[in-house]
Amino acid sequence: MNAALPVPKDMATATAPPPLRVDELIAQSPTPTRSFEFFPPKDDAGFAALYRTIDRLRPLAPGYVSVTYGAGGSTRQKTVDLAGRIQNEIGIRSVAHLTCVGHTKDEIGAILDGLWDAGVRNVLALRGDPPKGQSDFVPTDGGFAYASELIAFIAERNSGFCILASGYPEGHIHCLNRVRDLEHLKAKQDAGASVIVTQFFFDNAEFYAFRGAARKIGITAPIVAGIMPVVSVAGVKRMVALSGARIPNPLLVALENVENDNDAVGKIGIAHALEQCQDLLAQGVDGIHFYTLNRSRATVEICSAL
Ligand SMILES: Cc1cc2nc3c(=O)[nH]c(=O)nc-3n(C[C@H](O)[C@H](O)[C@H](O)COP(=O)(O)OP(=O)(O)OC[C@H]3O[C@@H](n4cnc5c(N)ncnc54)[C@H](O)[C@@H]3O)c2cc1C
Repeated sequence: MNAALPVPKDMATATAPPPLRVDELIAQSPTPTRSFEFFPPKDDAGFAALYRTIDRLRPLAPGYVSVTYGAGGSTRQKTVDLAGRIQNEIGIRSVAHLTCVGHTKDEIGAILDGLWDAGVRNVLALRGDPPKGQSDFVPTDGGFAYASELIAFIAERNSGFCILASGYPEGHIHCLNRVRDLEHLKAKQDAGASVIVTQFFFDNAEFYAFRGAARKIGITAPIVAGIMPVVSVAGVKRMVALSGARIPNPLLVALENVENDNDAVGKIGIAHALEQCQDLLAQGVDGIHFYTLNRSRATVEICSAL
């Protein structure tokens, strides 16, 4: 199956309201935006479950949702498809993630045209991770080495897109120098990115230090904070190892104490993420992006409590 399952008829309402661009939305929004991230499911049952999740999240009035881009194969077409369906059939503004992995410029150009034709106006432009088994990222012949190159390509090719870029409060895992990493982030803004979405973090102090340092070097784009409510101890440990984000010790101890009790882990995850969000809102964050892992419970509880 190469395409996203159609949205159930009783969910399909209308197309998303203007502005379709996320940078314009953030500029016009009187309060920090809330957004939700999903990944394209593998099969029809997964799509049906995801649409139920979106239906439960819809009353929270997200400013936008984003759809991740996979490592290869049919999942990639699903990103384009799903981003279009969410925006045009469910009526929520969407952002399509796009990576440089395995793509030539011509292929990227064709994907951008597909997104544009589907009405999607927002692209989160990423380099992507090295394929499994490789430690270093090797650019495809005729492709891009860094996200900044992809961003420059998109901006030059079609200035109608709002380009979002990733930021790393604790530094990107392969960049040992945080100052350098921030300079690379500034290069993404200079190339045309107008919104930054961060990797998840569990310690707000890391985010504030990152935001302060970014502003000092001239990064003016809104910085949307990435929040991932913990739902499983093994899962978060795996993601932390891949991303380089740190779990504060008291949180880790509390989670490990109830490791085999999913309900208790979920409650701790929600309480911690809620505290993070309350503090971020008090400190004037531009927006909060929830890594939902295609589930609704934690995000609904947190947003309802906010
Ligand atoms: C919000 C968010 C969403 C994501 N969504 C996806 C997704 O959908 N699919 C997916 O596969 N991955 C996704 N990722 C993961 C991302 O692809 C990886 O973290 C990847 O390793 C880096 O991508 P990037 O766009 O941040 O790369 P870049 O910004 O290109 O940076 C990659 C590394 O190169 C360094 N660098 C940048 N420019 C230069 C330069 N000129 N010279 C030397 N070094 C340089 C940076 O410091 C960094 O260490 C996401 C990450 C975030 C934070």
